[in-house]
Amino acid sequence: MEIKTSGRPMHSTFSMKRVIVRTPGGRLVEHFGYKTHSKHTCALCKKELAGKPRGRPIEIRKLSKCERNPVRPFGGMLCSKDTRMIISYRAKVRHGEMKKEDVPLSLRGYL
Ligand SMILES: [Zn+2]
Repeated sequence: MEIKTSGRPMHSTFSMKRVIVRTPGGRLVEHFGYKTHSKHTCALCKKELAGKPRGRPIEIRKLSKCERNPVRPFGGMLCSKDTRMIISYRAKVRHGEMKKEDVPLSLRGYL
């Protein structure tokens, strides 16, 4: 059976998600929607971040500033476990208990 397409230029793109649906009349038509965005992940351990909404940029822009990102150091970038680790490394380096060279190379950029 032939799939009925809309023929509109706005639908001739792969940036929209398309689903083929059978109508009650038995026709096959293409329905268009927006793709779902992936969840935000921690920069170090790739764990899903809590308090970081997912959606299209237009939807995120409508939220208030504190609804977009957790309001704390590294909020929306690192998970709480890694944030705690970075802050303790930072304090140890600042008070001379540790040298900056002793911190793992992958974490040195966050100090
Ligand atoms: Zn993490």
